[in-house]
Amino acid sequence: MSDSAVFYRSPADEYAVMVRGEGCRLWDDTGKQYLDLSSGLSATAGIGHSRADIADAMAKQAKTLSFVHGARVTNDQQELLAKRLVDLAPDGVGKVMFTSGGSEANELALRISRQYHLANDDWERTKIISLSPSYHGATIGSLSMTGRWDTKRSYAPHLMHAVNVTAPVNFRGPFAGLDDEELATRAAGAVEDSIEATGPHTIAAFIAEPISPSAGMAVPPQAYWLRIRELCDRYGVLFIADEIITGAGRTGEFFGMEHFGVVPDLTNLAKGLSGGYVPLGATLVRDEVVGAISASSRRMGEVHTFSGAPLSCATGLAVLDVIERESLVEAARKKGAVLKSMLERQLLGHRYVGEVRGRGLMCMVEYVRSKKSREKFPEEARVAGSLWDAMIRRGVIAPSFRMSSSLVGDCTAFFPALTVNEEELEQGVTALRESIEEQSPQWS
Ligand code: PLP
Repeated sequence: MSDSAVFYRSPADEYAVMVRGEGCRLWDDTGKQYLDLSSGLSATAGIGHSRADIADAMAKQAKTLSFVHGARVTNDQQELLAKRLVDLAPDGVGKVMFTSGGSEANELALRISRQYHLANDDWERTKIISLSPSYHGATIGSLSMTGRWDTKRSYAPHLMHAVNVTAPVNFRGPFAGLDDEELATRAAGAVEDSIEATGPHTIAAFIAEPISPSAGMAVPPQAYWLRIRELCDRYGVLFIADEIITGAGRTGEFFGMEHFGVVPDLTNLAKGLSGGYVPLGATLVRDEVVGAISASSRRMGEVHTFSGAPLSCATGLAVLDVIERESLVEAARKKGAVLKSMLERQLLGHRYVGEVRGRGLMCMVEYVRSKKSREKFPEEARVAGSLWDAMIRRGVIAPSFRMSSSLVGDCTAFFPALTVNEEELEQGVTALRESIEEQSPQWS
């Protein structure tokens, strides 16, 4: 065990100590420089590290109004950020409640769903449907909704019941090989079957990520989301979009669901909303939901101390200024297409590269033992672990990980800042190709 006083996530592991960041670069305490194509290792630092314009905005706000709790007063920064997000949202989405991050936003959506159904005298609607695999956060409610057994197994006795339905992935699993139309029909059909089997009058909400890294970044067909919207309407189920990763422009639209022309009832943002400069999340709510809750004189009484805090919201506003001023949503669309074609050109010819997927600046490469059978490598092959090590030796951060789901195996993810340039993308993709060529002889 290390002699650090920090209780690390994996107490037995060694961690590099990061001390500085600038744009898409990070430096550790040995002076080693890294090209960061992960936005701070978690798709968060979406406008680049350590920008002076954001630091200035934060300093100005800290000197003007550093903190007030939101239970009895509001503040100008919260009001402005909510208005800005509502202006970006589709028609009919008129209110925003803030949180300190993604797990909290998903929890809040859960509580709003409950209040909505209580307001409609639908007391029995308590159950949640989510996709497997999926990730919705680490708090007990968000972990309950998460469709990744490896992540939540240890906490099973503390978790609420959530119904998991197979995600729309056609690479492996029950929907393998289906075309888009069939995939949409079968995967949405599975959601409908589970609503029917669980009891439609007991379902409060359906939650999903528009495009999920947990599901290998497979982009669901538009028909799937249209069908989900229609099912939610038909069965009186609220549709929650977890846009913690896909939101704030990463996919090439401000909200990932815009690609599919679907308006969820609740939309959750975090990560890129503050670019990682402060903890900040948000839940955007459709007017009908707010209307029902307020008409019944119900209230969302449980407030987090940092919900709508002026410093967090001022930072979010400064980040939105950068996203707009530098046309970063459009940049994500264009550079995302460049990144995907670089990955395809450099990697798809390799015998162990199964597929390149994603939309905008979220792309994933999946490795297979055989292109024909799409079989995953066994855990002992250490595909993801060996690639992570090889990339770090090259000074590039594009995390590789092994999913324990039957649908997804070993993958490498690219979530660069929206400000990344093409040379940086080329450098990262080349490092991955070299790492695969170097490591793959030891995989089989
Ligand atoms: N939802 C998704 C899709 C995520 O990727 C994450 C975090 O990675 C969360 C929710 C949880 O967000 P946070 O870590 O800010 O609590």
